[in-house]
Amino acid sequence: MVGQGLAGTLIAHFLLEAGQAVHLIDDNYPRAATKVAAGIINPVTGRRYVKSWRIDDLIPKAQQTYRELEQKLNIQIYHPRPVLRALFNNREVNDWQARAFDPAYQAYMVPGDEVNIGRYAEHTVPAFDYGELREGAQVEIGTLAEHYRQWLINAGLLTEAAFDFSQLQLLDQGVEYRGIRARVVVFCEGAKSKANPYFSYLPYEGNKGEALITSIPEAGFERILKHRIFVVPLADGRYWIGSTSNNFHTDDLPSEKSRQYLTEKLDELLRLPYRTEEHRAAIRPTIKDRRPLLGTHPEHPQLVIFNGLGTKGASLGPYWAQHLADVLTRGVPIDPGVDIGRFGLNPSK
Ligand SMILES: Cc1cc2nc3c(=O)[nH]c(=O)nc-3n(C[C@H](O)[C@H](O)[C@H](O)COP(=O)(O)OP(=O)(O)OC[C@H]3O[C@@H](n4cnc5c(N)ncnc54)[C@H](O)[C@@H]3O)c2cc1C
Repeated sequence: MVGQGLAGTLIAHFLLEAGQAVHLIDDNYPRAATKVAAGIINPVTGRRYVKSWRIDDLIPKAQQTYRELEQKLNIQIYHPRPVLRALFNNREVNDWQARAFDPAYQAYMVPGDEVNIGRYAEHTVPAFDYGELREGAQVEIGTLAEHYRQWLINAGLLTEAAFDFSQLQLLDQGVEYRGIRARVVVFCEGAKSKANPYFSYLPYEGNKGEALITSIPEAGFERILKHRIFVVPLADGRYWIGSTSNNFHTDDLPSEKSRQYLTEKLDELLRLPYRTEEHRAAIRPTIKDRRPLLGTHPEHPQLVIFNGLGTKGASLGPYWAQHLADVLTRGVPIDPGVDIGRFGLNPSK
């Protein structure tokens, strides 16, 4: 497998569970999306307050998988956290309430008269109103990948290096790479997949995101707040503040413009002193149709891809990694909604 961000971690986990042998090659790139993300699982999103795609299936699988990995690695990375959503005018409140009456949303939306914004009332400038979502969570996906990496290294299953495509030999059955023979290579390269000579034809977009890690020692916030920006509790009085979204980037470095934007939004919101400790940036592996990318290369069945986790890797990752493992090991037919076959060999056609 190539790449050990969230996608590579999860597919390795499920393939090992299925009794397969794996070896991972990863360059430990410091600005991988998995290392920068907040890991929010948010069941109802967007301006129209719609359920995230397939969320009813994704959340139970995410909970189960992250709990399994917590046990395996002896870490705590899955934190159930309600999401408070600031509403800014009457129209937003009406739209939110209309959704809350829809039976398909009742598992997620807290009735309006039960919403209590707790310490946010005291320590932030009030919005017009608030909605609250159950079943939200924050998953420390960066910590997960870091610990899983160490576990793989200890088991002799990870090589830290950039993958050298000139060393990849396609055999009649499988592949060979620097003395390693395998039935398939699974590419989990995140935004760097654009440079993969076999899969560069897929319609990647790539969305740059930046976030600040701040210390707000007096806040004591426990829920995720979605105001103009997200405020996400981390450990020890620290908070993830983000993020920006830019499809027209020329690099993946932290920028002064985004730092200023996030700082302004936080200054407008917060009534407490804070200190910015870190500024992070990365490219999200987004795809034009906003769906994951799974499947085998149309001409080389020994080359497989798991990508396109986009802005929602924490929720999408476990369900689709399990699915790909089932496709590879049990011959389960691939779900056409995520199959790269939906783009043909030339997506411009
Ligand atoms: C600012 C920001 C905020 C986000 N917030 C959230 C959030 O709240 N919730 C959520 O669900 N998602 C969030 N995301 C998205 C989430 O980070 C991604 O969906 C997910 O991490 C993608 O994981 P990945 O493994 O596909 O890619 P990556 O994390 O990029 O991992 C790919 C790995 O493969 C390595 N690699 C690639 N090519 C090669 C090669 N040729 N040789 C060796 N190694 C290689 C890379 O260096 C990297 O280590 C956010 C992203 C950003 C940037």
